[in-house]
Amino acid sequence: MKTADVAVVGEDRRDPSRPRAWPPGASVLLFDHTHPREKPCGGGISASARRAFPEIEELVPLGKTGTRLRIAAPSGRTVSVTGDGATFAIDRAVFDAALFDRAVKLGATPIRERVSNLRRDDGAWVLETGSGPRCARVMIGADGVASLVRRRLIGRADLKHAALGAHVLVDRLESPSALVRFFGDRRGYAWVFNRRERSSIGVGMPLDRRNGWQLALAKFFTEQAPGRAMPPVVSWTLPLARGEEAFAERMAGDDWCVVGDAAGHVDPLTGEGIYYAMWGAEIAAQCVLAGRPGDYEPRWREAYLPVFLRHARTARHLEHRRRIELLVAAGSVPFLGRRIYASMTSG
Ligand SMILES: Cc1cc2nc3c(=O)[nH]c(=O)nc-3n(C[C@H](O)[C@H](O)[C@H](O)COP(=O)(O)OP(=O)(O)OC[C@H]3O[C@@H](n4cnc5c(N)ncnc54)[C@H](O)[C@@H]3O)c2cc1C
Repeated sequence: MKTADVAVVGEDRRDPSRPRAWPPGASVLLFDHTHPREKPCGGGISASARRAFPEIEELVPLGKTGTRLRIAAPSGRTVSVTGDGATFAIDRAVFDAALFDRAVKLGATPIRERVSNLRRDDGAWVLETGSGPRCARVMIGADGVASLVRRRLIGRADLKHAALGAHVLVDRLESPSALVRFFGDRRGYAWVFNRRERSSIGVGMPLDRRNGWQLALAKFFTEQAPGRAMPPVVSWTLPLARGEEAFAERMAGDDWCVVGDAAGHVDPLTGEGIYYAMWGAEIAAQCVLAGRPGDYEPRWREAYLPVFLRHARTARHLEHRRRIELLVAAGSVPFLGRRIYASMTSG
C-alpha cells in the first residue's frame, strides 16, 4: 500500500491558498465524507480572522459584512457597539466547501469517506475507510468535536468543557445589525447573525446548564421574527472551556497533531471556533512541513492559549445578571462588547 506523507482527517481549515501552509511536494490525503453540508453554526467570521487569513476575502461577497453589534442584557436593554473592522457571516455549506475545493485544487487528494478506525503499523498511520485502508506517515486530526482521532490518541474531552449550540435559519431578517443577548443566569447568549440571504437565530450555553434551552430559543425566535413560523431547530455541541484545566492534554506527538474543535480550541467567551481551527491548522502544517509535528504543542499554546484563559475569566461575568444589567445600562460594555464583537458579528 502506498504511504502518503500527511493524512488530514476532517476538513482542515488551514487555508490552502497559502503555499507556505502546505508541505511542498508532500502528498496529502484529505478525508471528509460530508461536503457540501451546512454545519449548525452561526457562520460568523471575525475581523481578526479576516486580517490573519486575507485569502478568505474572496469568500466575503458570498456572505454579509457588518461593523455593528447590538448587545442586550437579560431585561432587553440594549447598547450598540462598533468594531474596528468588518466581520462577516456566511453559510457553512459555502465556506467549508470552498476551503475543501481549494485544498484539492492545490494538490490534496480528496478521500470522500468517513475514517472508521485508525492504527499504527510499521511506523505509519493506517486509516480505515469503507473503500479500504490508506496509509500516511503523519496524521492531523481536524475531525471536529466528536473527533475519532482525539478519542483514539488522547481520550474523550470532558463534557464539563462543552456547550450546546442550537439555531434555526430563516429568510434574512430586517434587523439593523447582529444581536447578542445574554441570559444572565449562565454563560452563553442568544444571537441573531445575518448572512447574505438568511439569518441564524440561536442560543448557546454550557451543556450542563442547558435546561430550558428549547423554550429560550422559541421565545427569542418569536421576539426576533414575529409572525414567522419557526423552522426546524438544529443543534450541535462545541468546546467551551471553563478554565485552564480544559487545556491540560497534549495535542501533538512525533507524528500527529489535533486541531480545531477536536482539540477544544474555541474561544471560551464568544464560542468563536473557525478562526482558531484555521490558526491551529496553519501552525500544525508549518510544524509538519519542518518535520517536527510535536512543535505544534508549544506553538499553539504560545499563539492563542493566553487569549482563551483571559476570555474564560471574563466569561464568568456572564453568570451574574445584575452585573450585565449594570454594564449595559451604563453603556459600558466595551470590555465584553469589543471581544464579542470582534468574534461574532455580521451586519
Ligand atoms: C450552534 C453553533 C454556532 C457556532 N457559531 C460560530 C460562529 O458564528 N463563528 C465561529 O467562529 N464559530 C462558531 N461555532 C464554532 C464552530 O462551528 C467550530 O468551532 C468550527 O467549525 C470548528 O472547525 P473544525 O474544522 O475543527 O470542526 P468542524 O467544522 O466540525 O469540521 C470537522 C469535519 O470533520 C469531518 N469528520 C468528522 N469525523 C470524521 C471522520 N471520522 N472521518 C472523516 N471526516 C470526519 C466532519 O464531516 C466535518 O466536516 C459555532 C458552533 C455551534 C455548535
